[in-house]
Amino acid sequence: MVEIIKGDITALKVDAIVNAANPTLLGGGGVDGAIHRAAGPRLKAECAMVGGCPTGSAKLTDGYDLPSRFVIHAVGPVWHGGCEGEDELLACCYRTCFQLAEEHRINSLAFPCISTGVYNFPFERACGIALCEIFRALGEGSRVRQVYCVCFSDEDLERYQRILATFG
Ligand code: ADP
Repeated sequence: MVEIIKGDITALKVDAIVNAANPTLLGGGGVDGAIHRAAGPRLKAECAMVGGCPTGSAKLTDGYDLPSRFVIHAVGPVWHGGCEGEDELLACCYRTCFQLAEEHRINSLAFPCISTGVYNFPFERACGIALCEIFRALGEGSRVRQVYCVCFSDEDLERYQRILATFG
């Protein structure tokens, strides 16, 4: 089941929340900063040991003080106008999250709108890519049963729901 909800992803209790991280994995602003604050300093220590992550991929850590068991740190692309492989890199982030879900027996996942903040990816385009990959993974028999797409504002919630409606 796929649900678009509004809220703070750090408050959700699911098997894994996804972070919109940067390639250093050492924390930043936006949802990344919120996740690190809520998870506590042990998260940064584990991220430092992971040693970074390329754009378009993702790495899994413990969730520490978060209600969720794991954090999947996905590194979305910075939007440069759309001709630098941004769509495919964003799709790869979602695909890697589902691969990690299989490996770590994750049944419920919550995604923020990866790359749509300071990375400036056009919101509706990012939602379309996210939903395409989410439905593909579920259709291919992923063990994940529950997916939340978490929006941080009413406006984003409305826009995301409108894109979902086009998926029939
Ligand atoms: P990126 O660098 O990938 O663009 P940002 O953190 O700047 O990442 O933004 C990604 C999305 O996360 C934006 O849509 C932003 O509104 C949203 N966001 C910010 N804080 C939170 C939060 N606590 N919970 C859920 N979404 C959040």
